[in-house]
Amino acid sequence: MLSDSRARGQAPVGMPPCSGRIPAFPISERGSHLPGLSWPVVAALTVCAVLSGDTIQALDFHGATFSLMLLALLGTTLGPFAGGNESEWARYLERVLRAERDRLVGMLNAMEEGVALIGLDRKIRFMNPSMVKQFTDGTGLYCYQHLHHFDEPCSDICKLPRVLQGATERWEYTFADGQTYEVIGAPFADADQGPCMLATFRNVTQRKQLELELIKLDRLKSDLLSNVSHELRSPLTSVKGIISSLLQEDIHWDDETRKMLLIGISEETDRLASLVTNLLNMSKLEAGVWRPEKDRCNLSEMIAETIERQKWVYKNHVFETELEADLPEVAADSNQIKQVLVNLLENAAAYSDEGTKIVVRARRTDGEVEVSVSDLGVGIAPEELEKVFNKFYRGAQKRRRPGGTGLGLAICQSIITAHGGRIWAESELGHGSTFYFILPASQASETGTEV
Ligand code: ADP
Repeated sequence: MLSDSRARGQAPVGMPPCSGRIPAFPISERGSHLPGLSWPVVAALTVCAVLSGDTIQALDFHGATFSLMLLALLGTTLGPFAGGNESEWARYLERVLRAERDRLVGMLNAMEEGVALIGLDRKIRFMNPSMVKQFTDGTGLYCYQHLHHFDEPCSDICKLPRVLQGATERWEYTFADGQTYEVIGAPFADADQGPCMLATFRNVTQRKQLELELIKLDRLKSDLLSNVSHELRSPLTSVKGIISSLLQEDIHWDDETRKMLLIGISEETDRLASLVTNLLNMSKLEAGVWRPEKDRCNLSEMIAETIERQKWVYKNHVFETELEADLPEVAADSNQIKQVLVNLLENAAAYSDEGTKIVVRARRTDGEVEVSVSDLGVGIAPEELEKVFNKFYRGAQKRRRPGGTGLGLAICQSIITAHGGRIWAESELGHGSTFYFILPASQASETGTEV
């Protein structure tokens, strides 16, 4: 019935060529008795067409089946007015269907999201171009094989059964190539009325990465907040230790010792202030926009001073030094280098038993000065030796003292690197660790000129 004019390749008589829009259908003279007026045509409680002058124009519906159903109904209702016979109506309906289909196909082709139609048998019935571009054409193949490379249905992630029961499901899935998709599966009846899942796939990999970055940043921020307290606590512990000693009524402090203790407090508060500054400057240091304020420094003196103070805090450890005579001066920010020494000494005491030895050595190497801090503590596993310098990295080993933030060694590394030096660790699990750092000798010291 529909084949006559189509077979001849001609447009049905009186019908405009199909432009993708639903054409108007001319009605017979019998029907054109209302020139200049437009009348809505209502079918199934819906305005589905407009009767005006000598044409009837089907309205733009969003489902070809629905439009066709209504238009078929119209054909019956308006039979007496319709210009032609049954076959013209049929051609008209075909045109409407084609226009609907063209529009749908156009939309599917233009969609950035991938669209796939998956049948009850889990076979892919349709993929739009975007889906084919992202996953290659898998029409006719099993979705679990083509999309997921599984040998059998992936029951734990598959939403098909629920969708076929009528639910609309939304989920995210990261494929083996690392691309994350947000998938929305909705029930759909295919042309053969077979129950299907219409699934849209939106690539959300970038958004997901951004979300992960934000979560990481958030975690870093809260780590920073809680960890900073550790770094602030250690100078406070020193100050508290010295004050408690001074307050002991049963001990008589001679003037010189008292003065030394007070100097200790003063220096510890300086360190506290400098630590806060260091923390604030750490990001600048890493970005390379903050330079240490270098001066000519005598490392032996700095080591001796720092150890003297640590002895007050870690009274039950044995501190020793082996400092090469006539060490060259280094061009350094003395506050920062003291910070490094304090962090290393604190760690040495924190990760070793009371009563054990902590030795600080310094020696001249080729144009450099090498300083090391050794303990006889728990040691560090070989695979952790580099990680311990990462910000907020905390090893499995137990501290002998409370505290710890995973920030101390990261600060040491930032400072030493900013001085053009190098820091590293050597260790034997269960037998102790040695942390080394190297600073370039001051040129002035090498050549005898000013810095
Ligand atoms: P923390 O505050 O956890 O001590 P650090 O940055 O100072 O942070 O050290 C990072 C990690 O390196 C520690 O959690 C610990 O696992 C390890 N570490 C540092 N110093 C020593 C040491 N002397 N002996 C054993 N392990 C150490």
